[in-house]
Amino acid sequence: MKQEYTDIIHRCFRCGWCKLPANYVDFNCPSYLKYRFESFASGGRMWLIRAWLSGEIEPSERLARILFSCTTCKNCVETCAIPKIKDMLVDIFISAREDFVNTGIIPPAVRDYLKAMSISGNPYKRPQEERGAWSDGLGIPAYNGQEYLFYVGDEGSYDEIGMKMARATAGLLRDAGVSFGILGAEETSDGNEVKALGEAGLALHLMNETIRTMAERGVKKIITLSPHGYNAFRNDYPALGGALEVYHYTQIFGFKFNDRMPKRRLDAKVTFHDPCYLGRWNNEYWAPRFVLGSVPGISLVEMERSREQALCCGGGGGNFFTDMIGSGRDSSASARVREAVETGAEILAVACPVCYKMFDDAVKAEGLEGKIRVRDVAGIVCDGAGDKG
Ligand code: SF4
Ligand code: SF4
Repeated sequence: MKQEYTDIIHRCFRCGWCKLPANYVDFNCPSYLKYRFESFASGGRMWLIRAWLSGEIEPSERLARILFSCTTCKNCVETCAIPKIKDMLVDIFISAREDFVNTGIIPPAVRDYLKAMSISGNPYKRPQEERGAWSDGLGIPAYNGQEYLFYVGDEGSYDEIGMKMARATAGLLRDAGVSFGILGAEETSDGNEVKALGEAGLALHLMNETIRTMAERGVKKIITLSPHGYNAFRNDYPALGGALEVYHYTQIFGFKFNDRMPKRRLDAKVTFHDPCYLGRWNNEYWAPRFVLGSVPGISLVEMERSREQALCCGGGGGNFFTDMIGSGRDSSASARVREAVETGAEILAVACPVCYKMFDDAVKAEGLEGKIRVRDVAGIVCDGAGDKG
C-alpha cells in the first residue's frame, strides 16, 4: 500500500458518519446496510486495514470478503468528517485490494471475474467477435473518422439490458443527426471495474489496449453508455497518454444536442437515480435531469436521497459481477426501489446499465412490478413508455 495511505490511516477515529447520508437516519453505505456490522462500513474497514498493516491481524478470507464488498460508491467520501482522509478513503480500499490480489487472498467470485477478464477480455466469457452484436440491424456505421465514437463497454456489448440501452442510445444519436461510429468487435474493455477490484496490472493492460485502438482509429471525442467507462476515460486514461474529450450520453443530449433531441410527449411522474460514477465520482447531476426535463409531460420528482446523497444501486466496484452483497430486503437495490416507489413515480429513470439491471431485478424481487418501471433515460426519450431502453 502507498506510503501516503499508511501514513494517514490512523486518523480515522471511527465516528461512523461515513455510513449515513445528510439526514443521519438512513444507512447509505451498501455493504453496511446489508451486513450491519461496523467492519463493513468505511470506518470499520479503515480500522481493519490499520490492524492488518500493523500486524495485529493476519490477512484472511474474512478480511478479503469485507474489503471486496465495498461498492466504491463514495458515500463515505462525501460524508466523512475528516478533511485529511475523506478524499482518499476509496483509494485506500482499492489499494488494500491490490495487496490482497497480489497475495492471492481474494473471494472466489472476484477470482472468477478477474480470470474471465484476463482470458476473454470481458466478464461474460463471450467471444470478442460478438461485441458488436448489440447493433445488428440498426445500420450504425463503424467508426471511420466521425466526430464521436460511441463506446458501449462490457455491459452494453453483452448484457441483455445493457444491449437494449445501447440500442436506444445509438438510435437516439442517429435520429438527432450526431456524427458518430462504433468499434463493434474491435472495442475492448475500459478496465474501470478491474481497477476497482484491485488488479492494477490487468487494468493497465486493458486500458493501454483501448488507448492503442483509439489512437490507431484517430478517436478524439467519445460518448460512453456507462458512467463507469466515462469515469475511466475521464480520470485514468489521460495519465496513460489516452486523453480524449469524454461525454456521458446524457451530457451529449443535455449540453450539446438538446435542440435536436426528439421531444415525444410522455405524461408520467419520473424519479431519477444518480449513478455513483456519474454523480459522486464525476460531479454530474445536472445533465440527466435536464434531458428528462426536456421531455414534454414528464413530472420529475426527487427521492429523499438524491444527488450527492443518493443511495448506490449496489452494483459498483465490480459487485455487479461478483455479487459480494447479494440481494434481499436489505440490499441497497431493494431499499432504493422502495424509496423510488415512495415518491409516487411510475418510472425510475436510470443512466447506467449496471443500475438498470440491479433495479430491474430488485423491482421483481420486491413484487413492485405493478407500481414502478425501471427505464433508461435514452429509452424514455426515444420511445416514451415503450420498450426500447
Ligand atoms: S472514515 Fe471518516 S467518517 Fe468514517 S469513521 Fe473514519 S473518520 Fe469517521
Ligand atoms: S465507498 Fe460506499 S460501499 Fe465503500 S465504504 Fe464507502 S460508503 Fe461503503
